[in-house]
Amino acid sequence: MSNVFVLDQQRRPLTPAHPGRARYLLRAGHAAIFRRFPFTIILKEVKPDAHNAQFTPLRAKLDPGSKTTGLALVNDATGQIVFAAEIAHHGQQVHDGLLRRRGVRCSRRSRHTRYRPSRFSNRRRSASWLPPSLESRLANILTWVQRLQRLCPLGAISQELVKFDMQLMENAEISGVEHQQGTLAGYEVREYLLEKFHRTCAYCGATNVPLEVEHTIPKSRGGTDRASNLALSCEPCNQAKGNRTAAEFGHPEVQVLARAPLKDAAAVNATRWALYHRLTALGLPVETGSGGRMKWNRMGRDLPKTHWLDAACVGASTPDTLHVREIVPLLITAQGRHSRQMCRTNAAGFPDKAPKATSVVGGFRTGDLVRAVVPAASVKAGVYVGRLAVRATGSCNLKTATGTIQGIHVRFCQPLQRGDGYSYAYGKGGAALPPQASTPGSPRRI
Ligand SMILES: [Zn+2]
Repeated sequence: MSNVFVLDQQRRPLTPAHPGRARYLLRAGHAAIFRRFPFTIILKEVKPDAHNAQFTPLRAKLDPGSKTTGLALVNDATGQIVFAAEIAHHGQQVHDGLLRRRGVRCSRRSRHTRYRPSRFSNRRRSASWLPPSLESRLANILTWVQRLQRLCPLGAISQELVKFDMQLMENAEISGVEHQQGTLAGYEVREYLLEKFHRTCAYCGATNVPLEVEHTIPKSRGGTDRASNLALSCEPCNQAKGNRTAAEFGHPEVQVLARAPLKDAAAVNATRWALYHRLTALGLPVETGSGGRMKWNRMGRDLPKTHWLDAACVGASTPDTLHVREIVPLLITAQGRHSRQMCRTNAAGFPDKAPKATSVVGGFRTGDLVRAVVPAASVKAGVYVGRLAVRATGSCNLKTATGTIQGIHVRFCQPLQRGDGYSYAYGKGGAALPPQASTPGSPRRI
């Protein structure tokens, strides 16, 4: 298991403890449970000298993705991963919700109803504006870094900022770089090509197949190893092309595309830079790394590809050995905090449901983690632990690990943890992961 976060009586973060140690402290009555997810205990005494010499600050490492962000806490000195998580964002739901609202407002304008003037040119966006779906992603990541800051001694942050490092490629399109197999530079070139060819075969457009780095003008006919002579192809296309140039193979456009440099704008991602600036504002040193570097780190340590292991491999500070076997990542899913829509409408935009009910029922809200003990006389008799979805009648839904159970009354529920906008589960641990699919011995295959 991942380590357990420990706070002292005054809620100051201490070095995370081994689960066995935490179990002892809880049994002996020296500590109490502070949070279930991530599991945190609070000591019943003050530790004023805890911030002295024996104190090891941890590094929070992030691999931001569009749907899922990997997160790992690493002790740089020992190479131990202390905690790992994967945050599933809900950008798509945010996007869909805004589209629905826009539809309702549009249709209302053309009907004989209370007039709602069109509002599209009366707002000014700040220079740092991001679409709400992306903003929610950043907010998720920042929320979790700040939470971890409160739960453990964070000393630094590492973030994957760019997919590939132009500098490490020595500006490949102009000066050219040897396509050295297995070197860090080679990994940067490959990430560069993946971005340039959108992870598809340049010849047949196949996706989700193993891709190979391919010379548009073959080396045997004087083609160079410059990135401007490289393309991506699937194995059948590469075989079929053989000793021909891309033009002779019937694809002159691939040769043109390979020669054109990838615009810088395509390589840098506005969201990642926005995240970088916000992380810097937290006051911790932020190290940045490229996707190529991350992959090189991960392959060199023979680790499988998961979001949390990717995160652990971000940046040049990655320790030589990462201890991952006992780690079980916490799967965090962003859920949002109920709807702010006051008048609920049907698909055509007409109000057709009862006005929005109270969000607090019997002291509970949707999203609270509860333990329900339903007495034996009831049909639903049993003990359930899960995430509550409140209903105004008091008869609520409970989402447990095995499924959703309807008709659990709030009077049977005990709170375990109040809703915080996320739901939780545990993923596959380091020991349960499949062995490395592609070995470092065959670095040409991507
Ligand atoms: Zn192909």
